[in-house]
Amino acid sequence: MTRRLRFFNTLNRRLEDFEPIEEGQVLLYTCGPTIYDFPHIGNYRTFLFEDVLRRTFRLFGYGVTQVQNLTDVDDRTIQRANENAVSLREFTDGFATAFFEDLASLRVEPAEHYPRATDYIPEMVEIIKRLEAKGHTYRSDGSIYYRISTFPEYGKLSGVRPEKNLAGARVDVDDYEKENARDFVLWKAPKEGEPVWETDLGPGRPGWHIECSAMAMALLGETFDIHCGGVDNIFPHHENEIAQSEGATGCPFAHTWLHAEHLVVEGEKMAKRVGNFFTLRDLTERGFDPVVVRYLLISVPYRQRLNFTFDGLHVASQAIDRIANTLRRLENTPSSDGADGLLAGIERFGREFREALADDLNTARALAALHTLLRDVNSALDGEGISDAARDALGRSFDDADSVLAIFPRAAAGVGGDDAEIDVLIDERIAARKNKDFARADAIRDELAGKGIILEDTPHGTVWHRE
Ligand SMILES: [Zn+2]
Repeated sequence: MTRRLRFFNTLNRRLEDFEPIEEGQVLLYTCGPTIYDFPHIGNYRTFLFEDVLRRTFRLFGYGVTQVQNLTDVDDRTIQRANENAVSLREFTDGFATAFFEDLASLRVEPAEHYPRATDYIPEMVEIIKRLEAKGHTYRSDGSIYYRISTFPEYGKLSGVRPEKNLAGARVDVDDYEKENARDFVLWKAPKEGEPVWETDLGPGRPGWHIECSAMAMALLGETFDIHCGGVDNIFPHHENEIAQSEGATGCPFAHTWLHAEHLVVEGEKMAKRVGNFFTLRDLTERGFDPVVVRYLLISVPYRQRLNFTFDGLHVASQAIDRIANTLRRLENTPSSDGADGLLAGIERFGREFREALADDLNTARALAALHTLLRDVNSALDGEGISDAARDALGRSFDDADSVLAIFPRAAAGVGGDDAEIDVLIDERIAARKNKDFARADAIRDELAGKGIILEDTPHGTVWHRE
């Protein structure tokens, strides 16, 4: 079976066959959240793309070491902690917990490491010292800056080339626009109201970009396979990470750079002032199951802009119901000896699902392959039935699909109890019909219908599904 995967590498601007540094292993760095607020659904679009990426590698037989950092010191976290008059750690801890809760409800497979920036200050200091020794830096008013003219490859990721006449021009803020390509801050001088670390560099605190360089190299090594983020990370954040890391080590930082496109809401840029800004909590409060949000966010291939709409959420919800109903029908239908007609569809699914994912994570095609399989299953249930052999093969296909997509129903507390109660009522209805007590049989059907449970009397017996 092929292990060949292709990705669009932002660094070289083309589709490339993935070649790991170490056979069968993937070293993956994914920029994590800045824990000063609840992440919005655009952030989760990126985090879910990364989840599908790591799950795809595992389906293809790779081992994965993923690092996702938590930015717990930067301009924004400090500002918000001060506004709330609590310590930086106390302030960010709450949002770290909320982030992990969101990941669990979105069924994100945990990364191997979740480093927090404030736990890696010595590693940051070490890189800055190496950069100083190689002449990539200068000091001004107690801060240390990266002189981008000393790194001729600056701009190779983003295509943003600094203008020659900007010598000496610099930025102190963590995030800035492309037109401001200039020397950026590595270490910030102490300032009223900001946390201070006493280090070999002098007192101060790190700039944002050096944090990811330090955590990535500390946990994955100086060179690793894949670095991911959203397209808005390409400049300045990832461009600066490359300049810092490769400037210090002299060797390539990440071989492959993957970036998820923007998400818009109902066709418009998401913004708090427009009222179309959503966190996961905003959606669950409106009654949407997080797995429905997951479905919608992974349904569009990561390099395409995703238009998030409430219609889209309803369509996602129906798609998930279709999976649940098919599984339910399957469970409630006895096997039919020799009914192997489904095996061809199962085989085709296995091929198409893997091909779609191997092609730069084409999740839309992977989902289409799954829905074709579900249609085939329902046709078989309407017709000749499904043999034990086909049922086993189908189970393996569903396991593969769910290992990457994670959208299948999960046994949850209470659900089993509900199902047992439904089965008791169905048995009672069968007994009533045998006794020609049709009034009682109809009453049971109506009672179940009131709970959204639809009964079907088939040649294979009575089966039920949710509306
Ligand atoms: Zn980062």
